[in-house]
Order: sequence, then C-alpha cells, then structure tokens
Amino acid sequence: MTSLQLSAKEEMVERFLDAAARGDMIQVSTMLSQSPSLINQTGYSGWSALMLGLGNGHYPVVEALLSHGCDKFSVNSSSQTAYDIAKFWGHRHISTLLGHTDDRCQRLLPGADLHQQENYFSRETLDRLSAKRTDEGWLEDKQSDPNTVYLLFSNCSPMVSSPLEDPNAGGENQLCRFRYETVKDLLQKPATVLIFLGVERRKKPSAQTVDGVREPPAWFAINTDEDTADLLKRCREKNCCFNRDLLKFSEEEAGVVAQARSVLAWHSRYSFCPTCGSSTRSMEGGYKRSCLNSDCRSLKGVHNTCYPRVDPVVIMLVIHPDGNQCLLGEERRFSLWACSPVWLDS
Ligand SMILES: [Zn+2]
Repeated sequence: MTSLQLSAKEEMVERFLDAAARGDMIQVSTMLSQSPSLINQTGYSGWSALMLGLGNGHYPVVEALLSHGCDKFSVNSSSQTAYDIAKFWGHRHISTLLGHTDDRCQRLLPGADLHQQENYFSRETLDRLSAKRTDEGWLEDKQSDPNTVYLLFSNCSPMVSSPLEDPNAGGENQLCRFRYETVKDLLQKPATVLIFLGVERRKKPSAQTVDGVREPPAWFAINTDEDTADLLKRCREKNCCFNRDLLKFSEEEAGVVAQARSVLAWHSRYSFCPTCGSSTRSMEGGYKRSCLNSDCRSLKGVHNTCYPRVDPVVIMLVIHPDGNQCLLGEERRFSLWACSPVWLDS
C-alpha cells in the first residue's frame, strides 16, 4: 500500500467521522453504503463514529449506526464505551437506546442508570410502626389478635415451605405463617424471643367495621429453642423445614426475613449487659434490651448498648467498561466468589 493510498483512506475515515459528529445522516448513510468497513473505524483518541455521534446528541445517527451493526462496546483511549460517553454527556435517551438488549452485544451486567437497582433484602412490605413499640397494651392486644401473623424461627433460621419435596433442591421458598392459637404456648416460654415486625401495608383505605376502623394485620417473628421436629408438625404447609438459604424468597418476603433475622441475631449475641455484665430483658417490641441490674449506668440516659447495632459497610462490584465482565474475589474458606466488602470505620 502506498503512502498516497493510506492518506486517501485516512481522509475518508476523517470525513466519515466528521459527518457522524455533525449529525449528517445523508453523508453517514451514503459513505456506509459505499464502504461498510468504515463503521468501526476510529480517529483521534480512539473515538468511533458512534461515540462522536452520540457525544453530540445525534440520536438518528446513533440509531443508524446501531442498525448497521456497529460495535457499541469498543473503548476509546480513556477506556470509555459509547454508553459511558452518552451517560457522561447526559444523553439519557441515547444511553437507553444503547442499553436495549436486542443484539448479540447484550449488556449482561447492571448499568447503574439503566434502571434503579434495588437491594434484594431492602423491600419494605410492612409498615414497621416504630411508634407503637413502646405501647405495651397495643402490642399485647395484637399478639392475641386472630388476624395476626407469626413467623417461626429456630436458631435464627425461618420455617419455610417449598414447592419441591427437597426444599434445598431449588424453587422459591415461602415463609410459613401461623396464627396466635398455634403459637401461644411458645410465647410463654422464657427462651422465646418475640419481635414486632410491623403491620401490613394496604393499598386501599382501611375497611370500616361496626366498631370503627379495622386495622391491618400485625406481623411478629418468634425465635424458639424448642425441638424443630415438633415445631414442623404445627404447620399445614407441604415440605416444611428451617432453611438458612435466604436467597430463595420472593423480594417481598426477603425484606421481612432480613428485618426479623437481623434483630433476632442481635438478641442471640447480646444476652448480657455490655456495661455491667448482668442479664438483660427484651423490651419495646424486641428493639431494645434493658439491664436487670437496677444500679447499672446503662439505665440512666440513652446508650447505644441497649439497641441493635448497625455496622456500615459498602459492597463494591468493579465492572469492565464492556459491561460483560466484573472483578470478584474468592473467599477460600467457602470456595465462594463475591464482591469486595469494606467495613466503614470511624
Ligand atoms: Zn447493666
């Protein structure tokens, strides 16, 4: 190839890229029909026609280039994909177009702005009604209410039913739900821990009864150390067991389990007062532990030792610019590949 031919080709690429940057649809289409190989050519700093077109917000040019099968996951010298550039310049409609998964270049890993990501365990299906936790009379009434829902836990694992005979084999598990009559004996046991989870959210206004407004059913979690085989006999559902696999719930139930399990785990680890070492008792619907030693300093003022602790942590997933690869670390003890967690220290 002579230097003259090379210059002619470079000049053609330059014109093609310039047309894309200006949004000149006619010239882009004409040049592509004459020289299809232009489509993924790059110019200064590795910018392709697609990058130049979308960087200037030329939606029709982007659409035409995509329809001709351009590579939307190539990166420029700054490791930016076309998607990154569209996002950077705020061309949301174009980034949405790029995110559509109608070709072999499907973006497998989540893009933070394609749609709002939701934490599996953060769905709030119950209204926690935290103001009611100190209302002992109201809580007692709710405990014996026939509409109240109880969830049973053993060693912080919930009782679930499964569509399959082996609940560990797969499929979505469902929380076993009990009424007061089935669990009222457990509530009398000293080792039982009871957590008020909240009341059901209602989409429609509360139904009226003869006596007034009917309140939505309350939910409680019970952790008990009773024999698990005996506990399972209380349930009428099929294929029940106490299951530690927390990733087999619907998102609605996962949020409830997360709330219950986090508080129950706190109770199982904080039976004694961190200030004086005396025994403590559960209060306020299970969201506080109070020292039984009347001389204890923790009974005067507000102390974080009396409440469930929160440990801030960030979980990071490093995603390759092509959207199809990510960086994971291996936890050797469990042979588990996972994202990188970082605990936040003060
Ligand atoms: Zn104490």
